[in-house]
Amino acid sequence: MQKLTIVIPAYNEQEVLASSVQRLLGIEDRIAADNYLDQRADILVVDDGSTDQTWTIIEQLHKANSRVRGLRFSRNFGHQNALIAGMREAVQTAAVVVTIDADLQDDPEKIADMVKLYADGKDIVYGVRNNRDTDTWFKRTTAQMYYGMLGKLGVDLIPNHADFRLMSKRAVETFLQYSERNIFIRGLIPRLGFATAKVFYKRTPRMAGESKYPLKKMLAFAWDGITSLTIAPVRFILILGTFACLLAVGMSIYTVFSKVLGLAVHGWSSLMISLWFMGGLQMVSLGIIGEYVGKLTTEVKHRPRYTVQSKLD
Ligand code: UDP
Ligand code: MG
Repeated sequence: MQKLTIVIPAYNEQEVLASSVQRLLGIEDRIAADNYLDQRADILVVDDGSTDQTWTIIEQLHKANSRVRGLRFSRNFGHQNALIAGMREAVQTAAVVVTIDADLQDDPEKIADMVKLYADGKDIVYGVRNNRDTDTWFKRTTAQMYYGMLGKLGVDLIPNHADFRLMSKRAVETFLQYSERNIFIRGLIPRLGFATAKVFYKRTPRMAGESKYPLKKMLAFAWDGITSLTIAPVRFILILGTFACLLAVGMSIYTVFSKVLGLAVHGWSSLMISLWFMGGLQMVSLGIIGEYVGKLTTEVKHRPRYTVQSKLD
């Protein structure tokens, strides 16, 4: 049986959720008419511990239409965990899963194109924005720099793709084997292999409500991306250390010459410079190592990623 499940992570989305789900149901009618799949699709909303009316809205939507399902976390576990929970739940019954944000900034009309590509044999279809006009200058620039840097560090990322994508059941199941707790989904999917494709779309501004990614959350997310996908910062320590050593050699030569020339007493400045430099270097290095040790600690604990409080099937 070929069923599509659309997974929507939702955190305090009372302003947009009902209309988003209605719109998706309409789109689903059209997808059903295309006949690529032999079963009607359903929508799974994962409430990531919302503190507003989000869950009540999901319950109402479910009552009105049993093809709307819900999963409720006991607290906020974050966007990435909500996506994983949704995918895990969806593949119990679905042959293909699409993930999309609750605010429908990513063009939901493209889901039909994604399904067509799936029917053509693609396992992963990436939604890719063809512009960043709707972002602020700040977000656009920082995002560009960030993804550019990750690319240089050897992380395989799809430019301008976030978490709007289609995945076949086998792609999702492969992905779910990545059991790490610090997870940056969009950095792992390109590593899965399989046949992939892209659909391009124009991202629109949020219809209502506010972004659920304030700067602090975005920075934490960006940092997680780097440290969970690459050990390049640790290599950077090695380069920095080598550089410091070379500098120290230069300093030593200078000191010896000063001594020979009888100028040794004024060594205070060089002493202070090297002291501060080495101290700073060590602190930076320890900080970076600490980050990975911290990550290791959370990985070995194997804590549950999330806790489901209730479920509407
Ligand atoms: N989201 C979530 N948990 C969080 C933060 C966000 O499930 O802790 C969801 C949110 O409801 C939305 C998606 O992640 O469906 C993306 O968030 P948002 O649209 O606010 O991010 P932006 O588009 O501003 O980057
Ligand atoms: Mg958004």
